[in-house]
Amino acid sequence: MTMLLEGKETPFDTELFNGVMEKLKELQQEDYIESRRIIAEHLRSSMMIIADGGRPSNLDRGYVLRRLIRRMIRHMNKLQIDLKELKTLIDINVKDLGEMYPELIKNRETIEQVIIEEKDKFVKTLEKGEREFKKVIERLEKEISTKNEIDKDRKEIAKIIPGEVVFKLYDTYGFPPEVTAELAKESGYEIDVKAFDELFKKHQEKSRAGSEQKFKGGLAETTKETVAYHTATHLLNAAIKQVIGKDAHQRGSNITVDRMRFDFNCDHKLTPEEKQQIEDLVNKWIKEGLPVTKEEMKKEDAIKSGAECMFIEKYPDIVTVYTIGNVSKELCGGPHVKNTNELGTFKIKKEESSSSGVRRIKAVLQ
Ligand SMILES: [Zn+2]
Repeated sequence: MTMLLEGKETPFDTELFNGVMEKLKELQQEDYIESRRIIAEHLRSSMMIIADGGRPSNLDRGYVLRRLIRRMIRHMNKLQIDLKELKTLIDINVKDLGEMYPELIKNRETIEQVIIEEKDKFVKTLEKGEREFKKVIERLEKEISTKNEIDKDRKEIAKIIPGEVVFKLYDTYGFPPEVTAELAKESGYEIDVKAFDELFKKHQEKSRAGSEQKFKGGLAETTKETVAYHTATHLLNAAIKQVIGKDAHQRGSNITVDRMRFDFNCDHKLTPEEKQQIEDLVNKWIKEGLPVTKEEMKKEDAIKSGAECMFIEKYPDIVTVYTIGNVSKELCGGPHVKNTNELGTFKIKKEESSSSGVRRIKAVLQ
């Protein structure tokens, strides 16, 4: 719309982008208009996403932001612009766009901090990744020329970079696939997008389940103590449901060798009676010596069996379900004790507000 109103030929000639585009021209040592446009567009988008609360990560919108910032950095390198100038470019955008988007002014410090942090992370691996990429091209070129020597009449060989290479560059050096695709194009190659997507999907399923498991159990390290606390967490979860109600869902947990922390939905401070009832229930189950059993099953069967879980879509198709006697059934990565009689005595040390509508219990096993 601005382009039409201003009578310009591309969005990048409008006053929305002009400030940054001109500055890039001034700063650049190499002249690529496409790179200037990518930088201007990705910087603006990144700033908006960060102002809106997005943060770089390997999942969902965080991954979109990460790719925008990293591709932008790659193109700044291509133009041989000092990455310190990012701050200057951010300032120009805040000045040019801040009137329309006051959230850019309000969040200016955060925006700069997030972009610089992500830049620092990527810069560490960018050079190594580019060297690795060059090696791959040399290897492929050699392979192609050998094949051509053997069979001089053969048709031209497709110049394709295998999905595993694209994935390795992503996984080891943090190269988003579009960055690898651009590098490839500069050498006359294409990337195998389909093969990469498949590997990437598998990897994401794994890391989702992994982060979910950490979120649920909080088991950063596995010791005799943390395993016992993990099982106690499942018992506490079940006890809270019996005493407070079915809607008192787990919201998070954290375990160390000497205590457990458990967050759950609840609209009120627990009464002394409620705390006592919860504590008594857990201790009753411990005394009963309930067996803890583990089963692998299809996700849909787990749901049908009534197993507890949060964010079902984040689990892989085959899941592990831990059952404790007939009091608890949860999707969980484990590990757990074999029998609840290994746990000792459960004691609630503290009950407090964690955030709005969420209560937090700190407890120990003695
Ligand atoms: Zn668990």
